[in-house]
Amino acid sequence: MITRRGFLSNASMAMGATLLSGQQGLLKNLFPFAHDMHVLRNNVGIYLDRGGSIGWMIEKDGIVVIDTQFPEQAANFIGLMKEKEDRKVDILFNTHHHGDHSSGNIAFKGLADKLVAHANSRANQERTAAERNALDSQWLPDTVFEESWSQKVGSETVTARYFGPGHTNGDSVIHFENANIAHTGDLMFNRRFPYIDKSSGASIENWISVLQQIRNTYDSDTLFIFGHGKVNELSTGSKEDLQAFENYLEQLLNYVKKGMAEGKTADELAAVAFIPNAPEWTGDGIRRSIDAAMIELQGN
Ligand SMILES: [Zn+2]
Repeated sequence: MITRRGFLSNASMAMGATLLSGQQGLLKNLFPFAHDMHVLRNNVGIYLDRGGSIGWMIEKDGIVVIDTQFPEQAANFIGLMKEKEDRKVDILFNTHHHGDHSSGNIAFKGLADKLVAHANSRANQERTAAERNALDSQWLPDTVFEESWSQKVGSETVTARYFGPGHTNGDSVIHFENANIAHTGDLMFNRRFPYIDKSSGASIENWISVLQQIRNTYDSDTLFIFGHGKVNELSTGSKEDLQAFENYLEQLLNYVKKGMAEGKTADELAAVAFIPNAPEWTGDGIRRSIDAAMIELQGN
């Protein structure tokens, strides 16, 4: 999740705030496809509002939606979706259980035939909702898989794959095979500090391997939709971006391992603007990376 303030401050630094005149100019220039059904290839596109990126395929004979943000944003999306095709959703996916990707599931209840997710994602969603006494407001996945799951819809074959623990222990990548577009969910935080959910089975070390497996599974023409980018323009990308994020995670482990050996505290380690040798990853939340790496390294 990212706050608007975080978005704007990062974006301002990236673009140079002096070039822009006023808030409208800022939003227009930096968010060319916010709150908009932005087509990427064929009938497949991306919707950005508040929360993780929504991926979609909308055709006369089939609709697929990946992730649901929050209830209000899901309702916004559904309104725009119905303007394109007024029909049921054949498949709704959750890339993983976090609230900024799955709280909006409830808005699709009765509209979507099925809700698909990795088995661990479903278990995490149920557990965390129960902890918050919020099970009533959840629509939990009714179709789960362990390794992969595939179905033909309209002109597409849609295939979900699980590569092992990374951001959580239940993240999957969902591929529109003909458009060759793959939604990575939060296995990709592009150029901004990631959330690493150790309480839901995250593993930084294995995440590096997961990213390598993804690069080996898809090709150089694959267009990736990322769970989060530093600005909207960075919400999609290529295998090169996955490789750059692998480097971020490797450098994070190196930096924290060395610091711990020198007896440094988390506060001391977090007192930098970026992880050494990974300067492209910036924004709020470096402390979350440091803390997660310390937990992981202490466990080894
Ligand atoms: Zn997440």
